[in-house]
Amino acid sequence: MTQDTTQNAADTTETEPILGGRSAKYFTLGCKLNFAETAAMEQRLASAGVRRASNTEPADICVVNTCSVTEVADSKCRQAIHKLVRQNPGAVVVVTGCYAQLKPKEVAAIDGVSFLLGQNDKADIAKRIAIYINKVKESSEKNDSQESPTTSADSFVPSCARGERTRFFLKVQDGCNYFCTYCTIPFARGRSRNGSIESLVQQARDAAAQGGREIVLTGVNIGDFGRTTGESFLDLLKALDKVEGISRYRISSIEPNLLTDEVLQFCTSSRAFMPHFHIPLQAGSDEVLRLMHRRYDTAFFRDKINQVKSLLPDAFIGVDVIVGTRGETAELFSQSLAFVESLPVSQLHVFPYSERPGTAALRIAHSVSPQEKHRRCNLLIDISNSKLAAFYESFIGQERTVLVEHSSTNGVYHGFTDNYIRVELRSTRPDLDNQLQNCRLAGWNDSRNALIAEIK
Ligand code: SF4
Repeated sequence: MTQDTTQNAADTTETEPILGGRSAKYFTLGCKLNFAETAAMEQRLASAGVRRASNTEPADICVVNTCSVTEVADSKCRQAIHKLVRQNPGAVVVVTGCYAQLKPKEVAAIDGVSFLLGQNDKADIAKRIAIYINKVKESSEKNDSQESPTTSADSFVPSCARGERTRFFLKVQDGCNYFCTYCTIPFARGRSRNGSIESLVQQARDAAAQGGREIVLTGVNIGDFGRTTGESFLDLLKALDKVEGISRYRISSIEPNLLTDEVLQFCTSSRAFMPHFHIPLQAGSDEVLRLMHRRYDTAFFRDKINQVKSLLPDAFIGVDVIVGTRGETAELFSQSLAFVESLPVSQLHVFPYSERPGTAALRIAHSVSPQEKHRRCNLLIDISNSKLAAFYESFIGQERTVLVEHSSTNGVYHGFTDNYIRVELRSTRPDLDNQLQNCRLAGWNDSRNALIAEIK
């Protein structure tokens, strides 16, 4: 049975005398969901009196939220832990997230790691650190590399928090039941589960009360929402759309087979759901999709993209592609390249395939060399750059609404339009941060990574 796990007042009363006045640093790798969960852990520690340490001071507590999507991610996590241990001598170093969940022995053995926090225990972070500090006090020595039980991942730990930017990230779902052959996420995060619509609407209201204007819905497979509450993703969207004060929602990433006609139709008429979709394709070859155990073929995917474009012609569509998976021969990659190039999408997110222990993909005989993966990635990145530039340029001269996200000391602000075009805005006004502004898109900025927006 899935539980909503929240920190209660009693926990705060217990932990504040131990943690109050201490400082912490946070380091996150990986997906938006991880960032949302780190922000929620920071909020929980802040409620127990822990302040964020500045970059230049050593912290008392370091929290590392890890990712294990590739071998490179594992190695980045190890580097981050080593660096934090070196720069914050004597700190309590807590490691959580997918890498800690999948390889607890390996992570616990890293010098300086105090303990691992299982996916289910993220809501109890303050209590767990307080218990650890008390234990160390009792034994008068730091208990380095203590291996803690990394529990199963089956509870729903709610997270709705402002990242370092203006937007809030609301976790609506966790885990996945799909078991694509290359993916370890169902092992690291457990089966699909979700918060209730009522609790998520309440979290959105709380975000609005804190001044939030934009919420990004996050999860592992968010279109699969409802498995544990018997509710539907469409009903969640309808309920969130009614929350006063929230002007924008973005659906971070949704499987093509779960982006249903009803969900798309709703987005065309909704008050606050933005014309912005992130849809994982993973491969543009039917044979590779079959080897991956994906639940659609290229014809279905093309129809889906065409449907989005016909209902919401201005929509930004980002598409994930994994390159060099086992079984992707030169011929199948050429098919994939041609398919992706022909799609009317705005950007590709290109990932080189990384072998993960325990996955079914390892049984596929054909493998691709690292050099060839690199070459294939570069070909797709070039296509992505052209598509993104063409998408941006097609809106030059138009008016769009921008949520201004970054205040700046030299009068340069940044933000995103409704359809996810990054803009640069020059103004001497001090009050633009977190404001929605109607802007005219005037052309590229000097670094060609945003369009210049002029306030109307
Ligand atoms: S849908 Fe597939 S790739 Fe995505 S998390 Fe689930 S198993 Fe992994």
